[in-house]
Amino acid sequence: MSENLLTPSEQGYNGQGYQLTTMDKFIGLARSKSMWPLPFATSCCGIEFMSTMASHYDIARFGSERPSFSPRQADMLLVAGTIAKKMAPVLRQVYEQMAEPRWVIAIGACASSGGVFDTYSVLQGIDKVIPVDVYVPGCPPRPEQIIDGVMKLQDLVKNEAYSRRDSPEYKAMLATYGINVN
Ligand code: SF4
Repeated sequence: MSENLLTPSEQGYNGQGYQLTTMDKFIGLARSKSMWPLPFATSCCGIEFMSTMASHYDIARFGSERPSFSPRQADMLLVAGTIAKKMAPVLRQVYEQMAEPRWVIAIGACASSGGVFDTYSVLQGIDKVIPVDVYVPGCPPRPEQIIDGVMKLQDLVKNEAYSRRDSPEYKAMLATYGINVN
């Protein structure tokens, strides 16, 4: 990896023939540049995600060109579209089947808040059933906005402590959703 791609804190301490950094920084950098997406697309925002994946916007530039349709082989859940309340348990099951560490982006107004569908049948934001790391506004958001959301998530991932997933605070946060981890 070219050294000038790294921030001063990521560069650590360098000398002739060695480089020192911390495991947190090393693992965070590696994770953030290799996020495997699971697209959970239910309606129009999903089309914008397809465009984001395709050659013009080329999400491969961010290390995320490998979509997974198995939750067990994905670490970035991308929810794009209106989520009906009947669909909420399915989304929740997909999230629970993902291994830690896992992250979630709510793409567009519907996934973030229910959007214009303030009705009895639509979930008013996916954070009613699963935790969300990044919200992307828009109806629909353009691919540039989705990429911006991915880059925001990369920043979070890069700076996340390696031990966060084992912390009591993280487990308590999941417990508020009724999700238990061992
Ligand atoms: S936010 Fe707008 S574009 Fe996206 S799924 Fe909802 S209605 Fe469709």
